Amino acid sequence: MSSPNEYVQTDRERAFLESVEEARYEREIINGLAPFFNEKAPADMMSFYNNDEVVTLKQLKGSDRDVESRMPVKLTRHYYEIAKTSPSIQRIVKASPDETNDLAGSEDPGNQMDYSPVEGLLHKYEMGLMYVVSTCSAHCRFCYREELIARKEIQRQDGTVKKKGLAKIPEITAYIREHNEAVERNGGVHPDSGREKLREILLSGGDPMVLNNGKIAAWLAALAESGVESIRIGTKEMAFYPQRFDRTFLEMLDRFHEVYPQVGLHMMLHFEHPDEILAKTPDQEYIKDEHGFLQWIPETGAAMRNLVSRGWLTVENQAPIIRGINDDADALRILQREFKRAGGENHYFFCGRDIVAYKAFNVPIERAWQILNDSQKGLSGVETHARLSITHYKGKTEVNAVTNEPIPGLKGSENGVVIFKILRNAGPAPDRGKVCIVGRNPNAVWFNDYEDRVLFDEAGLFDYARVSKPGQAPSKAAAFVPQQAMCR
Ligand code: SF4
Repeated sequence: MSSPNEYVQTDRERAFLESVEEARYEREIINGLAPFFNEKAPADMMSFYNNDEVVTLKQLKGSDRDVESRMPVKLTRHYYEIAKTSPSIQRIVKASPDETNDLAGSEDPGNQMDYSPVEGLLHKYEMGLMYVVSTCSAHCRFCYREELIARKEIQRQDGTVKKKGLAKIPEITAYIREHNEAVERNGGVHPDSGREKLREILLSGGDPMVLNNGKIAAWLAALAESGVESIRIGTKEMAFYPQRFDRTFLEMLDRFHEVYPQVGLHMMLHFEHPDEILAKTPDQEYIKDEHGFLQWIPETGAAMRNLVSRGWLTVENQAPIIRGINDDADALRILQREFKRAGGENHYFFCGRDIVAYKAFNVPIERAWQILNDSQKGLSGVETHARLSITHYKGKTEVNAVTNEPIPGLKGSENGVVIFKILRNAGPAPDRGKVCIVGRNPNAVWFNDYEDRVLFDEAGLFDYARVSKPGQAPSKAAAFVPQQAMCR
């Protein structure tokens, strides 16, 4: 194995990278609140914040409640044009003094850093997630990577405190090769951690699509050369700046597929609301064509068509359900129906995580389930693939069902129950399919809100230990550690 500090490209990798073309993009980004405070934003954008909002946000500057030190403000021209007439979209990117009223929450939601064996990589399942960049073209106020984007210091399990680092090709590929070689030598599972092959990687951040084509291509090729079988690109760029999905980017993907046809490629898009994809009249009605089909925003429709027409990659959507943005069954119904009609797949909707200031954004778990369930009434089977997921420390967990009726004979179920089901579990997913049943708590926004009403827990959501070493899988042993115990 080469030293982690040196990375040697193969001939085919070098040839692929030499074929990549770059382009210039004019996102017309407004960075921070200062352009609004100092009247330096373009004249037509100045009214995005009214005078009262500017005065209040200015007063908070430098205080504990400074909204920008929690989460930097950023906006593209394309997204502004959508947001200026859509209250839901405004709430995604427009800073509000209310968001720092209560700063309860964790800087490392779900103790993700427990699963980071190398800086910039989370290795929790047979899939790894990488932070390849620490910004996006615009910033969502509810972002659960706010600690990465705001470059905050994070306390790790070993007590050290430092900013989350970004992934680097030499270190990451060395780790993948070393892990997978040990798995291979040991007959399919890692001798220390019991994990299987690390076969899938999600490029995340921040948004990988803010990197230039060459940098994205370098990651794709390096991962392919390391034996990764499937790569996902997690991005909200099609909402913020769909023009980024241009000829040069698409040709880079085509060339990658020619050179590495065996590697699966998945575009994981992030649309919260149909206003991000659909064209509207000045009266804010969605525009229909002569056949009654809803019309997409031209640039977004073109970007989507260009991706889905490449049958060797998949295009999927996943988004959290956030208060005031998309806690609306009708909006989610349109989003799921349109996304599927355009050839995409509805993957997950998420319950908000316990980020700092989560109370300003999170929808109670039971309500989020109700909204998604209502949104799927009247949709076809292929339109309703999305599930409601909540990311527990142990793994990805589905909010599977909420009942209004008690379960006969089950004490504690008098007001109905919530059923959680583990979908993905660290390591070889020994707990997949196991459920946990709790008595209802309509105000619950996180697992600890059910701590006093656990009725059945074969999934071990309330009975687990933290991993002692990054790369290991957690065991069922210690008492439940309430997530909010870490909150400020
Ligand atoms: S696009 Fe994703 S990573 Fe970027 S700010 Fe929004 S939620 Fe965070």
